[in-house]
Amino acid sequence: MNSQTHNNDVIVIGGGIIGICASYYLQKSGKKVVLLEQNQVGTGSSYGNTGWIVPSHSIPIKSPGTLQTLKWLLNPKSPFYIKPTFNIDLWDWLIKFRKYSSSSNIENRISLSTKLSQESLNLYKEIIQSENIHCEFEQKGIIQLHNDERSFEEGVKDAELLRLNGIKSNILIQKELKLIEPSIKSNIYGGIHFINDAYLNPFTTVSSLANIFIKNGGIIYPNTQVEDLHINGNKITSISTNKGIYTSKYIVLATGAWSSKLMKKIGVNLPIQPAKGYSISFKNTKNTPTRPLILSETRVGISPFNNYFRAAGTLELSGLNLKIAPKRIESIKKAIHSYIDIDLKNSSEDIWCGMRPLSPDGLPLIGLTSKIDNLMISTGHSTTGVTLAAVTGKIIQQLIDSQKPLIDIEKLSPNRFI
Ligand SMILES: Cc1cc2nc3c(=O)[nH]c(=O)nc-3n(C[C@H](O)[C@H](O)[C@H](O)COP(=O)(O)OP(=O)(O)OC[C@H]3O[C@@H](n4cnc5c(N)ncnc54)[C@H](O)[C@@H]3O)c2cc1C
Repeated sequence: MNSQTHNNDVIVIGGGIIGICASYYLQKSGKKVVLLEQNQVGTGSSYGNTGWIVPSHSIPIKSPGTLQTLKWLLNPKSPFYIKPTFNIDLWDWLIKFRKYSSSSNIENRISLSTKLSQESLNLYKEIIQSENIHCEFEQKGIIQLHNDERSFEEGVKDAELLRLNGIKSNILIQKELKLIEPSIKSNIYGGIHFINDAYLNPFTTVSSLANIFIKNGGIIYPNTQVEDLHINGNKITSISTNKGIYTSKYIVLATGAWSSKLMKKIGVNLPIQPAKGYSISFKNTKNTPTRPLILSETRVGISPFNNYFRAAGTLELSGLNLKIAPKRIESIKKAIHSYIDIDLKNSSEDIWCGMRPLSPDGLPLIGLTSKIDNLMISTGHSTTGVTLAAVTGKIIQQLIDSQKPLIDIEKLSPNRFI
């Protein structure tokens, strides 16, 4: 085995949108950064998602009632599915999730989440403009569609709550929806247009940032899996990989859904569950929507890109695996047809699944753990990792440079679940 020291300042483990944004900002602040990725950069959860940058998604996933949870458990076609299992980590996670989703501090979490996502959106705009990145970034807002009155009323209530936190929206009745997006079916009850939301092509964004990082002297080692971390006192002194040993002053953990597994090896307990989601990218479609849509009752999201349109959804707690369940793909297709008039008969499809790193309170885990002084945790971004990547990267750089983070991150401490 070879040993690679090279006087690195920082090693970033994980080349998804979080790892790449952290590497970008650390390099900008003059650090010598090496990124280790077990596969190819951008091929994890950051690959086939809808690419939304959505301050409007700042309300945590609501806790289901006990009856609803049972229904999910029994129905593999539901938008949320928990595979019945005796996995202790999953049950521990579910208990924590239930505690957080029924707790009284939801308003504080919404306020923190909106601040983070709005700051992230500003940072994305800054990076895209200053680096001249072509990643299909658009800020046309996102329309949340409701096909029944009750869910529409709930959506309107949530929009009110978000408005108190600076998130602007317009309520749209049936006729208005059709004028904005002719492909929307005429029986859709109503919609909410979150006017400042944006989206981009996630893989193009990660690849572009990786190219900029390499051009400016950064090193990326693909197919390099971190197998263990070696500790002396309160510090990680070296990292073993399938390609050799690496050392550096700081380590950034950006391994997404794989984070708990890796951290277990050094006795750090991170309550993160892999939450599988699927997407279908359709090529050669006609009458596609011109902006992202949320098909509320089915929890499916749609993004139109230059050469295809993508529909994504489902949140499946079934462990660390990338098995595709055909039933889920069928559910997503069914959802599309119930909200929009679109002809998919002659289109080709690219089916994908990825694992979101889901934390019990929906917020990321950012900062040091109580055990190790040179390990910066940067994971658990749940359903909004694309949204929060830019601000996370900036904060990680500020923490490593001993600067005051641009947003108070006390509530994001990886130690908050202990
Ligand atoms: C269907 C779907 C739709 C989504 N839509 C959106 C959206 O529209 N907007 C939004 O904000 N978020 C969305 N998300 C969530 C978002 O995709 C994630 O939160 C985000 O991609 C997480 O980024 P990450 O960098 O932490 O993880 P990843 O992209 O998974 O990156 C982690 C990387 O670490 C690598 N790695 C893991 N272990 C090791 C190891 N031991 N050694 C070396 N490398 C390792 C992995 O190979 C991987 O490349 C969606 C997710 C899904 C599944």
